[in-house]
Parts: sequence; structure tokens; C-alpha cells
Amino acid sequence: MSKLTPETIDWSNLGFSYIDTGARFRAKFTNGAWQEGEIVSDNTVTMSEGSPVLHYGQACFEGLKAYRTKDGEIQLFRPDQNAKRLVKSAEQLLMEPYPEDKFVEAVKQVVQANEDWVPPYGTGATLYIRPFLYGEGDIVGVQPATNYTFAIFVTPVGPYFKGGLAPQDFLVTDYDRAAPQGTGAAKVGGNYAASYLAGKEAKDAGYADAIYLDPATHTKIEEIGSSNFFGITKENQFITPKSPSILPSITKYSLMHLAETRLGMETIEGDVYLNEIDQFVEAGAMGTAAAITPIASITYHGEKHVFYSETEAGPITQKLYDELIGIQFGDVEAPEGWIQTVK
Ligand SMILES: *Cc1c(COP(=O)(O)O)cnc(C)c1O
Repeated sequence: MSKLTPETIDWSNLGFSYIDTGARFRAKFTNGAWQEGEIVSDNTVTMSEGSPVLHYGQACFEGLKAYRTKDGEIQLFRPDQNAKRLVKSAEQLLMEPYPEDKFVEAVKQVVQANEDWVPPYGTGATLYIRPFLYGEGDIVGVQPATNYTFAIFVTPVGPYFKGGLAPQDFLVTDYDRAAPQGTGAAKVGGNYAASYLAGKEAKDAGYADAIYLDPATHTKIEEIGSSNFFGITKENQFITPKSPSILPSITKYSLMHLAETRLGMETIEGDVYLNEIDQFVEAGAMGTAAAITPIASITYHGEKHVFYSETEAGPITQKLYDELIGIQFGDVEAPEGWIQTVK
């Protein structure tokens, strides 16, 4: 297969798949300190067979995007928040955190090294950035690693929705992705391994993804495979679940801020009981990948509940989406500190 290049790639036909862009960032923690990171070309990693990441899942990651503006600049959306969250995830797994300021620097460095891979403005496509951290070394017992690798690769990805926001159907699963006082709030690989089966069953049955209930009582909506849930009430409230086992989405906190300051809405983080979802006139999923996915319906034990419409996004959902996407691509003024430019 001939290798894709920024010159030969069809920007308007990108999905969400891995493309080797030729440049990635690597830094190692050895002898008790982070060594200077560098850009390397080889996309493979080697490590000891005893590495805790391979046996005990000592790994965490982040996901963010670089956006090309109308002026041809490249900008990042709140990368400092990803830096903070990676530190929290690392701490929960007793890993050596990568310093926050160095994280943002490394993200800029790897984007710069791949600047031709940042898709043109107007295609809706972006450069997806995947930082990750894992524990390695000659270890066999259940204990944290002493050596770590922090790495970042990038890959151009298409817009989640081509031609407007398309509502999706979701299936409420009986599986849990995380335990009540477990690792749900940390962005760790193990949570995703635990979600494969629920996700596959939902997709095989024709749904976009699984929705998880709170693991303690299975009565409240918790979150979706890789995005958080929101509902909009008739009273113009933006309501999103609060739980120690939900992954704190940066997109969610950004949308809450925009809902309050730009749409004049009341925002609430609280319990979202499954048997009270008819209070919502609109609902959606939020995360970096799609920004917002309008939720057409959710099905629980064979019963389907439709929110706003099965074919169209609701007006509030659309406004929130336009505001967020506008900020990310530089068409709408961002709140102070949300945007960092790369070039
Ligand atoms: C990453 C992630 C999200 C979305 O977080 P963003 O910061 O908005 O991208 C939501 N849920 C889970 C489980 C995640 O891993």
C-alpha cells in the first residue's frame, strides 16, 4: 500500500482511523526523572515483557484536537485541561505524572512537526492528538512501574457528522464500565477494555453506542461509551449527571460555561434518573470526538424513549454545537484562556 501524504490525502473523506504521519513525541521517565522528550519517526514501541502496562493495565491517555482556522493558523482547545486530567489519571494508578507545562509544550511540538497534516479550514476535519502514558520495566509482581513512557501521536480525522448534526440511537446497557468507587473518573485503558463488550452488543444491535447506568443502583444515567450525557428541560436548564465514576469531560464543562454565559441557561450537575427522562425536550452526548452528538432515542430493556426528534437536532443542541465548534475553529470569540495557537 502506498503511504498517504498530506499532498495525496482526500481531506473530505477522512474517517476516524490511524494514519502514520511520520512524526511523534516520546519522553522517558528513568532513574527517577523525566528525560528530555523528542520527536521520532518510528511508530513502534518496545518494552520489557514484564511491563505493568501489559499485565496490570497501568496506562492512561488523553484525546484532543488541533484545528485549522480561516487564516490558516493552527489552534488547540484547552490543552491545559488535558494536561491536568492526565496528571489525575496517572496519580490514581500510582504512575509518574508528566508535568503539565511540559505536556502542553510537547503537544505544540508534535503538532508543529506534523503541521502539514492539520486539515484545511472548511473541511470540518481536524488533527486528532493522542497523548498516552504507560508503566514499563522488568517486573512481575503486582506493583507500579519505576519506568514510564509518555508519548503523543497524531492522526487526521474527519468531521464526526458530514452535513449537519445527525441524531443517533443509544442502548442502555446492564454492564458497568467502572465500579462506584473505582477508576471511572480516570481516563485509563482498563475502563475501555471493560467497555468493549457492552459497546459491541449495542453496535451489533444497530445502536451508536451503549449508555451506562450508575454502577451502584442502576437507576440513573451515568455516561456514554466515550462521552458525557446532557439533557435540556422545558425550563431552559442544562442538566448533566454527577457521579464519582463518570469521566469528567472537558467538552462538558466547556458547554456548561457556554450555556450559562452565552445562552443564559441554568446548568445543573446532579442525578439523572432513568424514570425521569421525559423531563428532557432535547438530549445529547458530548466529548472531543464529535463535540455534540444529538441523542435521538435511548432504549432500555426493550422500551424506546425518543427525545426531540429521530432525524433533527433540537434548537438548543444546535446552538450549543455552533458556539463550541465556532470557538474551536476560530470563528467565534473564545472565553479567556481557552485557545492556544501553535503557529
Ligand atoms: C474522554 C472521555 C470523555 C470525553 O471527554 P472530553 O474531554 O470531552 O473529550 C467522556 N467519557 C469518557 C469515558 C472518556 O474517556
